[in-house]
Formats: sequence, C-alpha cells, structure tokens
Amino acid sequence: MRAMVLGAAGSELRLEDLPEPSPGPGQVLVRVRACGVCRTDLHILDGEPSLSEPKLPLVLGHQIVGTVEGLGGEVDSFSAGDRVGVPWIGWTCGECRYCRSGRENLCDRARFTGYDLDGGYAEMAVADARFCFSIPPDYPDLQAAPLLCAGLIGFRSYRMTGDAERLGIYGFGAAAHIVTQVAVGDGRRVFAFTRPGDAEGQAFARELGAEWAGAVTDPGPEELDAALLFAPPRVPVRTHVQAFPLERANEALASLRTGSIRGQNVIVFR
Ligand SMILES: [Zn+2]
Ligand SMILES: [Zn+2]
Repeated sequence: MRAMVLGAAGSELRLEDLPEPSPGPGQVLVRVRACGVCRTDLHILDGEPSLSEPKLPLVLGHQIVGTVEGLGGEVDSFSAGDRVGVPWIGWTCGECRYCRSGRENLCDRARFTGYDLDGGYAEMAVADARFCFSIPPDYPDLQAAPLLCAGLIGFRSYRMTGDAERLGIYGFGAAAHIVTQVAVGDGRRVFAFTRPGDAEGQAFARELGAEWAGAVTDPGPEELDAALLFAPPRVPVRTHVQAFPLERANEALASLRTGSIRGQNVIVFR
C-alpha cells in the first residue's frame, strides 16, 4: 500500500510502498477514504516537547474515515463494508482505575493513532474496534474527517456530565453522533434534540441508541439530569475543507503551518 512516512522528526514525509497491515484480535482493517490533517500532526513532525516520542518510522493521521475491509478475531461491533471513523485515542489498557471509571483518555498506557500507532496517511490502516465510530450516512468522507477532532471535544464535555443518567444532546451533528454512541455504550439514557423537521436526523439518533429523538422546540418526554450542546448539524465546515491527494501531504502540512488555509486540509483517496 502507498503511505506517507515520517522517518525522523524535522524531516519531510516520504511516499513509500508498505506491506498492508493485518488486523489482530479486536481490530478492524480499514480502507482509508479520507484523513484530516491536524495541527497535532505538525507538532509531531516538528518534534515538539510534548509529542517528541512517536513510533518511528510513523504514518501520521488520526482523523480517519474509511470502510471496514477485514476483521480480526473477537470483533462483533462492525462488519465488512461499514463506514467508520478512527480517532486520536487508539488503544487503552482497560484495566487501570482510569479505564474502569470511563476516563480512558488518562490511561497511563494509552496509545494514540498517528503517534504510537500508524495512522491514516496511508491507503490502509488497522484500528481497535472499541474506539471506532459509525459515521452518519449523510456526512461525506471529506466532511466527516475534520469532525473526528470535533468529536473528541464533545467527548471531553461528555465526561464532565459525571454519572448523569438522562442525558440530553442538542444539535445532533457529527460530534453529537459520536458522543451518543459513547453514552449509550456507557449505559446512559440519551435524548436527542435536532432541528425541527429533521426526521432523518432523529431516525439516525434512534438508530444509534437514543431512547428518544425530537425537535429542540419539543420539551422532551422526561426531565434531564444533564445536557450537552453541540453546533447545529451541517456546520460551515462543509465549505471549509480542502482536499489533497496522499502524495501531497507535505504541502497540506505546510499550508497549515503558514496559515494560508481557512478551513481544514484533508487527504483523500480515490
Ligand atoms: Zn487532530
Ligand atoms: Zn488504562
């Protein structure tokens, strides 16, 4: 497979032909369709102090949107053909006190996509199925990729809701979709509030496990213990994405460095 590879901090990425990875237990093999180019990638490439110990050589990229092409053992949450997102958190131990209290992001042994693990500046990637998200069908690959970082922002605010049982999620966009899946997985009861008339968005919220979905103008069926507000769906990010083919990843990073782009750069695959 073709991949853009970081050989050492401070150097440019090189286009290389790497063997296709094979999914281990609990992992999915993903054909990458798009991968966001994030400022974090630039910090890793520059060897900034807080991100100075990446796996090397490394395939950068932690905002991956792709299609599942293969499954390792013990994966029942996804099947071949599913469209998934792979975020920054790539693996946690599942055993420490942080992991067991829903604060996996603090796990001492956590590994990160595109830092400790090869990421999405490549045609194929493997990812831990526990951390993959379903991508809403109405979000094209290009528009979904930047939202995987937005999804993590939602994830942080979600953690601040403590152990609230009934969670209201307002503005059912992609970040909200991601948080809904996490909350339902944690056993919360999710109530999704969308734009009035967005029957499709409401149906999708229910499909992801929301107990109830309706319009923001609706009072909802029950009192809530906590609420999270997200940007409304179809945010302007749609018009602020610039696509680059894989071999131009260095250019995508350079334009991020100089600030010559207004939106987010995304690597796309045909
Ligand atoms: Zn990022
Ligand atoms: Zn842990």
